[in-house]
Amino acid sequence: MFREMRRKGQLLNDADVVRILDEEKSGVLALAGDGGYPYAVPLSYVYDDGRIFFHGAKSGHKVDSVRRCPKASFCVVAADDVVPGEYTTYFKSVIAFGKIRIIEDPEEAMYAALKLAAKYNPSDSEQGKKDAVMKEWRQLCMMELTVEHMTGKAARELI
Ligand SMILES: Cc1cc2nc3c(=O)[nH]c(=O)nc-3n(C[C@H](O)[C@H](O)[C@H](O)COP(=O)(O)OP(=O)(O)OC[C@H]3O[C@@H](n4cnc5c(N)ncnc54)[C@H](O)[C@@H]3O)c2cc1C
Repeated sequence: MFREMRRKGQLLNDADVVRILDEEKSGVLALAGDGGYPYAVPLSYVYDDGRIFFHGAKSGHKVDSVRRCPKASFCVVAADDVVPGEYTTYFKSVIAFGKIRIIEDPEEAMYAALKLAAKYNPSDSEQGKKDAVMKEWRQLCMMELTVEHMTGKAARELI
């Protein structure tokens, strides 16, 4: 049911898509929000072999939306170089679709939280990362987006 990209020449290969997800710091998670309005919320994330982990609070618009409808899409922009003379931007981006779930199992949640810690503070020790996670543990809600369809696209000039 997922659409093909119309401009096939601008499609990035799988390795480039994963590289973007590994290198970028944040993206925008789109959820079915309140009253039929989409809720697009910027988040830090980590990509882990076909899934994307997020962390957040246990209450709020985001988790309420996930509980109501697990279908989500996540967009990461990797390049946005405006070229004024050409009235264009040299861009690179990734869009993933999938279902998102709240991770209830503590071991799974710890795994995901440590993956996030490793991405954002790679030089910290294993114990340091664990301590940082434990400090937030009680209010931490870990979420997993299982990717069902994912594409990367770049301006023709960057292909
Ligand atoms: C680059 C970046 C990375 C972030 N990383 C994380 C992360 O990893 N984990 C995390 O929990 N949060 C992160 N945030 C904050 C995140 O965007 C949300 O504000 C937060 O997750 C709370 O979401 P909520 O739906 O529970 O908030 P609620 O307070 O329940 O949202 C209620 C309303 O507040 C408004 N609102 C909420 N968030 C924002 C926002 N960011 N900007 C403008 N209006 C807003 C919206 O109108 C929303 O409907 C990040 C923000 C940025 C910009």
